Amino acid sequence: MHAYKRVMVTGGAGFLGSFLCEKLLAEGNDVLCVDNYYTGSRSNVLHLLDDPHFEIIRHDVTFPLYVEVDEIYNLACPASPVHYQLDPVQTVKTNVHGAINMLGLAKRTGAKILQTSTSEVYGDPTVHPQPEGYRGSVNPIGPRACYDEGKRCAETLFFDYHRQYGVEIRVARIFNTYGPRMHPNDGRVVSNFIVQALRNEPITIFGNGTQTRSFCYVDDLIDGLMRLMGAPNGVTGPINLGNPGEFQIRELAEMVVEMTGSRSEIVFHPLPVDDPTQRKPDISRAKQDLGWQPAISLREGLEKTIAYFEWALSDAGGKSRPSIPQAAYPHRASSNADVIVPEVVR
Ligand code: NAD
Ligand code: UDP
Ligand code: UDP
Repeated sequence: MHAYKRVMVTGGAGFLGSFLCEKLLAEGNDVLCVDNYYTGSRSNVLHLLDDPHFEIIRHDVTFPLYVEVDEIYNLACPASPVHYQLDPVQTVKTNVHGAINMLGLAKRTGAKILQTSTSEVYGDPTVHPQPEGYRGSVNPIGPRACYDEGKRCAETLFFDYHRQYGVEIRVARIFNTYGPRMHPNDGRVVSNFIVQALRNEPITIFGNGTQTRSFCYVDDLIDGLMRLMGAPNGVTGPINLGNPGEFQIRELAEMVVEMTGSRSEIVFHPLPVDDPTQRKPDISRAKQDLGWQPAISLREGLEKTIAYFEWALSDAGGKSRPSIPQAAYPHRASSNADVIVPEVVR
């Protein structure tokens, strides 16, 4: 038996994965980060590389991987529509072949495995807010299907490995999550609006901006994921993890402009195909089974995220480097002179 856990995080060099690796290390685990750097970056975990309990390997989860671990968080998969639609076939492979390989690994080692599924499994929902029992309304042949259907198939695989082989599984359905360390070119709405506002460039609303989303701050989400992994056996999920505060995209744009003091104008672009019109999690199950609910409001989370992008963009502009906001590297107490600028913002 190990006094500590050997925890593998696939997609660990991405936005959510890097925070998860950090929190797992802080709790005394050995962490193996597995990433092919498709949308992630070594820069996101650079501050962890000196930690003897942290290891990173460049690997694509669509290929088999033989390591010995106790727990697996399967995050590998591009999450931004812009990125997952860039190479949709690879997105399906990552979701499906990646899930099979990681489940095969869990089956062989007896590791517990958590899947980061998504609110996208509900598609363009006809039930609002969305409880886990809602089966969704997904277009299986549309441009979002590589992600939505890929994630649905991954859920199927998780439950089949559980029923057929007794693999201990956890399935989280994550709703829109944002925070520091998002790639400035990530393409998702929160980072787009903040970057545009800070540059005084037009804020691009797709459609008329009345579509809604519910935005969860990264710290709350990571707490939810770790509680789910630690939940008693039998709590398999799926469990919605998200902030039930619901906002129109237009409201988000106005809030970001106000909070940044930006001179940006708001412009309207066509709505992407199959863009869901409304989304809000029913988190009763997470409250009941995990004792979890988000603690950070949208305004509070935006403040931290704006502070991060102010730093990231100012550094990219070649100005003197300000100290890194606590939100980006919370485990570091003060000065961060030795942290290398993320390559993604150069
Ligand atoms: P991200 O794009 O920042 O991170 C994904 C990571 O996976 C990146 O580091 C990328 O390089 C890596 N990756 C992609 N394909 C891979 C492959 N084949 N092999 C190995 N690594 C691979 O996205 P994120 O926001 O951190 O999302 C992490 C996970 O959470 C994803 O599975 C995503 O679907 C899920 N999720 C996120 C959100 C959200 O709002 N952030 C919402 C729902 C679900
Ligand atoms: N696999 C892996 N690491 C392991 C065990 C399995 O990557 O430690 C992969 C292997 O490529 C296999 C897949 O997981 O194809 C599914 O494994 P499983 O045992 O379910 O199927 P099988 O080996 O019978 O095809
Ligand atoms: N969106 C927008 N402007 C942007 C990026 C996105 O209006 O620059 C909209 C997008 O059409 C969607 C919402 O914001 O209605 C959330 O988009 P995101 O890509 O962040 O996530 P998802 O659609 O996967 O929820």
